[in-house]
Amino acid sequence: MLHGAGRPRRYNGTEQAGSLACVPRLSEVIAALENLWPAERAESWDAVGTVVGDPDQEVSRVLFAVDPVQEIVDEAVKLGADLLVTHHPLYLRGTTTVAASTFKGRVVHTLIKNDIALHVAHTNADTADPGVSDALAGALDLRVVRPLVPDPDDPDGCRGLGRVCELDHPLTVREFAARAAERLPATAQGIRVAGDPEATLRTVAVSGGSGDGLFDEVRAAGVDAFLTADLRHHPASEALAHSPLALFDAAHWATEWPWCELAAAQLDEISDRNGWDLRVHVSKTVTDPWTAHAASPDSTAGAPN
Ligand SMILES: [Zn+2]
Repeated sequence: MLHGAGRPRRYNGTEQAGSLACVPRLSEVIAALENLWPAERAESWDAVGTVVGDPDQEVSRVLFAVDPVQEIVDEAVKLGADLLVTHHPLYLRGTTTVAASTFKGRVVHTLIKNDIALHVAHTNADTADPGVSDALAGALDLRVVRPLVPDPDDPDGCRGLGRVCELDHPLTVREFAARAAERLPATAQGIRVAGDPEATLRTVAVSGGSGDGLFDEVRAAGVDAFLTADLRHHPASEALAHSPLALFDAAHWATEWPWCELAAAQLDEISDRNGWDLRVHVSKTVTDPWTAHAASPDSTAGAPN
């Protein structure tokens, strides 16, 4: 139960399922989010939790997004949101200034001036059950079998980084690339593909965000393909030399955005359970930094003679 912090709660008089709906305090909503993604499950280098916000402020509108950038904060202002929840941290390292002359300081100023709280769930959402890669697998219609890198502290073996998945029906590399391009939110990058386009896929590992540090685990899982983001030349090239693996590289933002919808649905359910009068939104603004893609006229032609 998530009950108030000893202060009188404001009831707005709206009938919901026969009971009075109430506007929760930020502390109550944060407690619910912390229950989904406990801060202690974040990596030691990470910076998760509440960045801006008064625990006593009332929250009636929440916006989920991947990046705490000015564009998203402006969207939160326009929406009348009281709380912005993002996947990426605003400050990953310590800072000595929040002056509005810096772009992050401007974000902080805009949030505080508009009474909007900011809460971050990053690596603690990556490894959660369900987490970022479950949402990615769901968007791609994949059946999750197990985590790619299981969390040793989870006796059930459900939490961890990435997911090993199965396809309901085998697809070729070409078909699965088309599915990924269609199901993930549209970006300038689209999907980069490595591997024989006619090879058949039955199993796919996925990891939302930058995944090229996971090739050892992908190989150990014995999957036919790996879909992630930010694949660099050398790790990708070496992985392909090692085994006949197909690689799918999507835009970082696009691999993490499905989590926003999952997380919003989770908070919606908690809100219903608690009788909260809460509106939960997901930003559809593309905050991937890459905004255009010029395809080579003939990608098989190679370097000029
Ligand atoms: Zn990320």
